[in-house]
Amino acid sequence: MKRKTKLIHGGIPIDPHTGAVSVPIYQVSTYKQDDIGVHKGYEYSRTGNPTRHALEQYIADLEEGARGFAFSSGMAAIHAVFSLFNSGDHIILTDDVYGGTYRIATKVLSRLGLSSTFVDTTDLDEIEKAVKPNTKALFVETPTNPLLKVTDIAAVSGWAKSRKLLFIVDNTFSTPYWQTPIALGADIVLHSATKYLGGHSDVVAGLAVVSSGKLGEELHFIQNATGGVLGPHDSWLLIRGLKTLGLRMEAHEHNAREIVSFLSGHPVVKNIYYPGLESHPQHELAKQQARGFGGIISFDVGSSQKASEVIKKLKYFTLAESLGAVESLISVPAKMTHASIPKERREELGITDGLIRISAGIEDSEDLVEDLAQSFNINEI
Ligand SMILES: *Cc1c(COP(=O)(O)O)cnc(C)c1O
Repeated sequence: MKRKTKLIHGGIPIDPHTGAVSVPIYQVSTYKQDDIGVHKGYEYSRTGNPTRHALEQYIADLEEGARGFAFSSGMAAIHAVFSLFNSGDHIILTDDVYGGTYRIATKVLSRLGLSSTFVDTTDLDEIEKAVKPNTKALFVETPTNPLLKVTDIAAVSGWAKSRKLLFIVDNTFSTPYWQTPIALGADIVLHSATKYLGGHSDVVAGLAVVSSGKLGEELHFIQNATGGVLGPHDSWLLIRGLKTLGLRMEAHEHNAREIVSFLSGHPVVKNIYYPGLESHPQHELAKQQARGFGGIISFDVGSSQKASEVIKKLKYFTLAESLGAVESLISVPAKMTHASIPKERREELGITDGLIRISAGIEDSEDLVEDLAQSFNINEI
């Protein structure tokens, strides 16, 4: 099955109980048992719900994994996966991971005795240097936010296997439409489904997919024990959003390319970060491990004042956190998503005050480029 077909026919596309061509919203908490312990596979909706189950099968299929799990947010999914570890364990993470991942690792899990080290995972030597006797896992985000750094999933996965480390990939930016880390050797894939998978800025959700039945049992135990599950209505919205993932991702990428070609060579723009650019340090790798470069672009306009001047004049780019939705969004990471990271550390990573991040929506690219052009010109006067 090819990718767009799988988006329509993958998982459980038809309700097995009624034949409905959209699995209904099973708005229910508990299920009648025919005899004590005799039931149709569902006992209580924290443990399992038919709508959530349809979503979980769907994402497992899309990510080419053994089993999927739906959570109430991306952070709930990440927390559940981190709950597979024990006090005293150590985890290595990508240095510019999502701020919430940095926060849970350094401010929550650290209190429970789980330690972490952040390294540039584009460099295998750096990862190797961070290994300790108690290291149990490697958590990689690729491409990263907001600098779009790309880690070699297959190479790192081979290395992690030789070290017997669990290899976890946050695939939020690429989505299974462009990139399937489990097929490249990852053990667990995570998503903030709030972003591209939902795609319409109307759901907060998280998904996890594991590569084996054994990991599936372990994560289901955690999901049921900790209880951060996605409700049936949000599960249904996510299924609905996912049907058009292919069409949307193609449109996001088309618009991103048009925006990048406008930004390239514009005097206001200092640096552009986009894996589709030949000048991107991991361009060849990105081309090889993913089927597309995605819809996120970051660029530097030199100062926070310049950034805010540009943003004020825009009509079609909504100033907001988040990304991956049908409408174009714009943000200044240093002041918004990454404000909790100390300025020194931000500068070290390259997240300067003049850095702007765009999440290209699916509007007509001509309008988006025209909008950017007028905002840039006014600032040059
Ligand atoms: C947004 C995001 C998360 C967190 O997901 P929520 O749904 O906001 O809890 C995790 N990882 C990445 C890469 C994200 O962009």
